[in-house]
Amino acid sequence: MKSRLFLVDREHPLPEGWEEQLDLVIFRNSLGDEIRIDHETFDAYERLRASLARDGVLVDVDSAYRSVAEQRALRERFLKKYGEAYTEAFVGLPGTSEHHTGMAVDLFLIVEGRAVVLNEELVLFTDLWKRIHSQLPDFGFILRYPEGKESITNTGYEPWHIRYVGEKAAREMSSKGLTLEEYLKAM
Ligand SMILES: [Zn+2]
Repeated sequence: MKSRLFLVDREHPLPEGWEEQLDLVIFRNSLGDEIRIDHETFDAYERLRASLARDGVLVDVDSAYRSVAEQRALRERFLKKYGEAYTEAFVGLPGTSEHHTGMAVDLFLIVEGRAVVLNEELVLFTDLWKRIHSQLPDFGFILRYPEGKESITNTGYEPWHIRYVGEKAAREMSSKGLTLEEYLKAM
């Protein structure tokens, strides 16, 4: 397995050969959607989910691995539904989405037995996200697009989008308040 510490964004397309060597796990979320995800990321996510559940916070996976073709289709759906400005801010161009790595996970919440999946509704659960985000580094995840770092990540705040980087890097980024961009630059 190559290093997990690399950027995928507009200027940094997915490294060549990454998708071919991915070890994907397939499972169904509580809504019955088929989710594909990098194996090690899945194991870490399962530990995170169990820990949050013990704390009374219920999360599930809305989306993890996405192929370039799927990203193209998603972008078209968002363009129709939300228009260009919103799509530009939240949905990466095909080939430049972190979801192609298999290590990015979009969470949704289960609140009082109901699945909360829409972005505009998810952002309202500030306290739940705070509790979720505080546990991320213990399981090797970072909040990838934090509030206040939009000019560095070039992405709007996404409380639901987490990225697996491994425990050591996640703890370091979290304790220093660094985004993946800043961490890689400082390495
Ligand atoms: Zn995402």
